[in-house]
Amino acid sequence: MAAKNNCKKARREKQRQNMSDSEEMCEDCNKEVSPDDKALVCSLCDNRFHIKCQRVSVADYDFLIKSDDGIQWFCKSCKGASQKVYKMLNLVHKRQDQLESEIKNLSKNVQDCNGNITDLKANLHSVVSGTVKDILDERHEESVRENNLIFVNLIDNGNTSNDKDTLKSILENILGLTDASGQVKITSITRLGKFANTSEKVRPLR
Ligand SMILES: [Zn+2]
Ligand SMILES: [Zn+2]
Repeated sequence: MAAKNNCKKARREKQRQNMSDSEEMCEDCNKEVSPDDKALVCSLCDNRFHIKCQRVSVADYDFLIKSDDGIQWFCKSCKGASQKVYKMLNLVHKRQDQLESEIKNLSKNVQDCNGNITDLKANLHSVVSGTVKDILDERHEESVRENNLIFVNLIDNGNTSNDKDTLKSILENILGLTDASGQVKITSITRLGKFANTSEKVRPLR
């Protein structure tokens, strides 16, 4: 307690000395701060101000003068500037939080991508070999079809059992191939499409 009182005493003494310094001027009105004037020193810019120039009430002044060094007083311009800095710091903090969550999302996406790439690598062989098989099958089908003979507008009564004889007679009698079965290898005879019982729609014979 004694130490605190000593501290207060020293501070008041300091304030008195500051005030009695006839060189000191008020930063606002540029007039001398006399020892009788109530004045405060800004904790940030260290300038001296009449309390009436800074619109500080006598009660606040008395409180500040009696308080210990923990309470600081800022002049109006320093207060404005420090509030701006505080707002800016707040914005910086918010932006930092946003960036951190964006980075988290980004790294999660990268992890997902890596997982997909791993899956893709694992499946690549079967996907490629499946595709290659499809292409080869199609080529084979095409090469088989190269030798196909397709006849259209032949009588179609839905009964395909006579198709072989019909074909044989076309080859021998119309195309003049005397030994048709020896010259044309018939692997299969089919009708293309579904039988429809109408005279307009005749399935081609292959
Ligand atoms: Zn002044
Ligand atoms: Zn100041």
